[in-house]
Amino acid sequence: MRSASATTATGPTGGAATEADQHWMALALRQAARAGAAGEVPVGAVVVRDGHVLARSRNASISTHDPSGHAEVRALRAAGRRAGNYRLPGAVLYVTVEPCAMCMGAAIQARVARLVYGCADPKAGAAGSLFDLTNDRRLNHRMAVTAGVNAQDARELLQRFFRDRRAS
Ligand code: ZN
Repeated sequence: MRSASATTATGPTGGAATEADQHWMALALRQAARAGAAGEVPVGAVVVRDGHVLARSRNASISTHDPSGHAEVRALRAAGRRAGNYRLPGAVLYVTVEPCAMCMGAAIQARVARLVYGCADPKAGAAGSLFDLTNDRRLNHRMAVTAGVNAQDARELLQRFFRDRRAS
């Protein structure tokens, strides 16, 4: 069980969070906040390779009527377009909340080298909580994981969003 309460935690196959990780996660959190302001579940994602942002995105399932409109899928799609290749070897996917099975599938298809996420998602997380698709020997791709980066910020965005929704 991975600790998501600490500001930095180490996944079983990943290293500790670096200062760069905190920086990119801050960008992802900004995307998450924008999603929340637009009435979407506040999750944001950034794809980084060689120290450059390939793409950043946020949840947009509701506004786009798209069940695959999660921040990670949208960011990976945009990164693939930018790179001119649906494979993104060497890329790091930053996402504010632990990815679901669909998003992990997309990250595996893209051959993402490393996943860095904020808070865990005990109900749908597929990077250690409900499933662990980051490091399954039956799959032909595995990725390093660093969990719990700026987890408190990511969790507070979610909690505020659902609290406000219940209140309205
Ligand atoms: Zn997802």
